[in-house]
Amino acid sequence: MNDIQPVAIADGEFYPGQSGPVEVAAGQLPSGNLVSITAHVFRAYQPGPVVLFLAGVHGDEINGVEIVRRCLSGKLFNKLETGTVIAIPLLNVYGFNNFSRDVPDGKDVNRSFPGTNTGSLASRIANGLSKNILPHVDLAVDFHTGGRGTYNYPQVRYNLEDVRAAEAARAFAPPLIFGNRAPAKSLRRSALKNHDLPVLTFEGGENLRYDAHSIDIGVSGIKRLLFQQKMLTKKPEQPEKPPREVHNSSWIRAGRAGLFQWSKKSGFQVRKGEPIGTIYDPQGKQPIKRIKSPRDGFIIGHTNSAVVSQGDALFHIGW
Ligand SMILES: [Zn+2]
Repeated sequence: MNDIQPVAIADGEFYPGQSGPVEVAAGQLPSGNLVSITAHVFRAYQPGPVVLFLAGVHGDEINGVEIVRRCLSGKLFNKLETGTVIAIPLLNVYGFNNFSRDVPDGKDVNRSFPGTNTGSLASRIANGLSKNILPHVDLAVDFHTGGRGTYNYPQVRYNLEDVRAAEAARAFAPPLIFGNRAPAKSLRRSALKNHDLPVLTFEGGENLRYDAHSIDIGVSGIKRLLFQQKMLTKKPEQPEKPPREVHNSSWIRAGRAGLFQWSKKSGFQVRKGEPIGTIYDPQGKQPIKRIKSPRDGFIIGHTNSAVVSQGDALFHIGW
């Protein structure tokens, strides 16, 4: 980026050495109250890349909100030597206030990119990010957790064909890296297609719950990524082991309804045919149903739901 031009977001302009929050309009509530999204901008004196840390695209995925909040309150981004950080701890303020993944009409912001300013509320929020923020950005990390009741082992997902994203994922160095194809109309897919922007999707823990392990990994990963981008000079701690890498995954689903208990969970290596969980009939009439791993692999997610219906996702196996 030209080091004389300001980074201009909504009505905020940031010249080298300037930092501060800026409010981006995001519609209004039926009561008439205006809704805005806060972007915290930190620009070093020296030129360098612009990195976006984004959380709360799904309003009930709190670990990411906490990861970005910790970096803000720990003043991590105030120490930048080069470049710019844009930190948005909470994109989907509607979902956050309603303890919901989606916006109030039930639409998913992360399936609404790039969005339009005449579309559904989810599409308008996506459009606000696509228009106001993404054009400034060289690299982004989007923080998520498992969906309702699903625990995701701390991991970074990236677009397999994108070498920049693969390098950034390895620098972030979570326990697991998952190169795959992002869902249609997701931020990760849309940003690469429309802005040639590499996006890492961080996943860790489950919705509406803190997971200290995932939060620590998210904060350390941000430090490692900023060090690799030469934006921070203090060498961060490296993990004991390099990340495990997987490129394929599939879900094991409940063949029967009932009470579910896992015996292996996220973070475990499993062998084909190995028993990893059990479904019980609450009346004790039907025989118990053992869940066996259909292949050799690594458990990258599992459900914490005690009660499951037929077809519910129980384990996410990567290999
Ligand atoms: Zn999510």
